[in-house]
Amino acid sequence: MLDSISSLPKPLVLVVEDEPALATLLRYNLEKQGFRVDEASDGQEALTRISEAPPDLVLLDWMLPVMSGIEVCRQIRRKASTRDLPVIMVTARTEDQDAVRGLNTGADDYITKPFNIEALLARMRALLRRSNAVPVKGQLTFHDIEIDLASHRVSRNERPVHLGPTEFRLLEFFMQHPRRVFTREELLDAVWGPDIHVEPRTVDVHIRRLRKAINGPDELDVVRTVRTAGYALDTEPL
Ligand code: CA
Repeated sequence: MLDSISSLPKPLVLVVEDEPALATLLRYNLEKQGFRVDEASDGQEALTRISEAPPDLVLLDWMLPVMSGIEVCRQIRRKASTRDLPVIMVTARTEDQDAVRGLNTGADDYITKPFNIEALLARMRALLRRSNAVPVKGQLTFHDIEIDLASHRVSRNERPVHLGPTEFRLLEFFMQHPRRVFTREELLDAVWGPDIHVEPRTVDVHIRRLRKAINGPDELDVVRTVRTAGYALDTEPL
């Protein structure tokens, strides 16, 4: 199971920092903690990197050449594709903390230089957990399928769909990550848990049950089989 855990993508952090020594230090520490790191040394470059390689989190220095961290943050919030991107603003002690707090920068959190790397990691992890978290109440929607998370009710095209507990968890997981291909091992880790030892073929059995329950006679098969790779929830054929 360890192999399948390490094959899951590591979170990508964009470090936006114009002090090379600090950028290097951050990269070293973040990589050591299992993050992938991308770098930008000014505000404009930050926006370019975000559109070229969308990160999972941005560590954004407040004082930057070309474009300030505040402006970068505003632009991140303005675009629909990056509106929910987690941003931690990094400020220097000399900067007016009240202004940092008071200004509506749209940052999710901020940390003051010089900071303790452990404190930064704790905030990053909390923010990543929050951004990946499933809302306790509410709905997940994909194409014509809906899951009501509070009542555990599933419907397709307003027709109720009855799923076993494993098929429900499979569908819920797929709907949290639509169009992404998962290997059987990744699905086992995510849906059954990393400590449960079952044959990867078990996944195929439950995928078959899920398909049978979710796809009506004239409905599109939304579970895509990707030969040798695994499965995805998708409405597009290969
Ligand atoms: Ca700076």
